Amino acid sequence: MKDDRSVQPKASSYFANAAAGVMLSDVVEATVEHLRREAAIGAVSAAEEASGVIAAGYAAAADLIGAEVDEVAFVESGNRALAALIQSAALQPGDHVLVDRTCWGGTLNMLSSYPGVIVDVMPVDQHGRVDVGAAKAQAHPATRLVVLTWCPATCAIFNPAEAVGLLAEDLGAFYIVDACQVAGQRSIDVRDLRCHGLAASGRKWLRGPRGTAMLYASREYLTATRAFMADQFGQGRTDARRYETGESNVAGRVGLSVALRAAQAIGVDAIARQLSDIADRLRTRILTVPCAVIVEQGSELAGFVTVTGLDVPETFAALSRAGIIVSSPGRAYAPLDMDARGLTSVIRIAPHVFSTAGDIDALVEVLERVATGNPS
Ligand SMILES: *Cc1c(COP(=O)(O)O)cnc(C)c1O
Repeated sequence: MKDDRSVQPKASSYFANAAAGVMLSDVVEATVEHLRREAAIGAVSAAEEASGVIAAGYAAAADLIGAEVDEVAFVESGNRALAALIQSAALQPGDHVLVDRTCWGGTLNMLSSYPGVIVDVMPVDQHGRVDVGAAKAQAHPATRLVVLTWCPATCAIFNPAEAVGLLAEDLGAFYIVDACQVAGQRSIDVRDLRCHGLAASGRKWLRGPRGTAMLYASREYLTATRAFMADQFGQGRTDARRYETGESNVAGRVGLSVALRAAQAIGVDAIARQLSDIADRLRTRILTVPCAVIVEQGSELAGFVTVTGLDVPETFAALSRAGIIVSSPGRAYAPLDMDARGLTSVIRIAPHVFSTAGDIDALVEVLERVATGNPS
């Protein structure tokens, strides 16, 4: 797989991959080339030409998560995938929904729009991860749906997604997994998760184009529920693509397909090992920065680091002067967890497999200067 740095000169100082991963040059080229074909031969013919690439993309998506190909769909964002899956549960007044403390803010918004639906939050261990034993003891018998944010945007922990799947099964509830921060950085097996639905952004760790996401709906969920707002394309379909709309950004789907096949070719386990080494190195280096406090604690942390204790605008300004890009997700991304931790925003440093020790040293040097009051 070609990864031509010349078209992405900033990759070495780019630490915002949890917001939007640096695309492989093959992904960029395939996406742009599709737009050129649309201009040259018309959008409908171009889509026909691209159908093989996109079919291979669905196959790669299914393979990457251990699903059947009729259980996957491409939609325009992680939020859209979550909304579509949650809507299908057809929640009624009096239903309970179980979420975790790191629950994605968008999911909380969606759930709160159902009149009379009660959202319960699972208890956590000392690191803020779901305590499944305690959750089981407290779970309401009228729990119809469990939605788990596997890895939040604001803290690099993983919730015990398989154990929560067993809990959902015990409760006879549907189980939807938000894997937006997991897909592409860790391997996923929907059968092990026992989930009915799963959502994953395309642009983050999978390094696909913006405005893309993949959705998984199990055959069981597809049979037991219906798709709301299905258009003339989705109407009557029995596969997961009933969640798609007839109109779509085909160039984006081409790019996503190439990105999915690249992840498959490299192997997500290999990516996970590399990323874990890089993130460990980053964490070890940040431990020595005065004032900087790493938010996530405990074992098996994700491939990015969230930091508090440094002034956010000042840190951003200093990093940007050095040409280094990070991101700073705020409370809205995970309001329950951020409130519980007393945080309003964090500095999120998200490397990817291309980040070198030298890249990390350059970043940490800037953080040290900010911390010691010598930012420029
Ligand atoms: C990014 C993200 C989402 C939403 O995905 P979009 O593709 O931005 O709509 C949901 N949950 C988590 C944990 C995320 O990080």
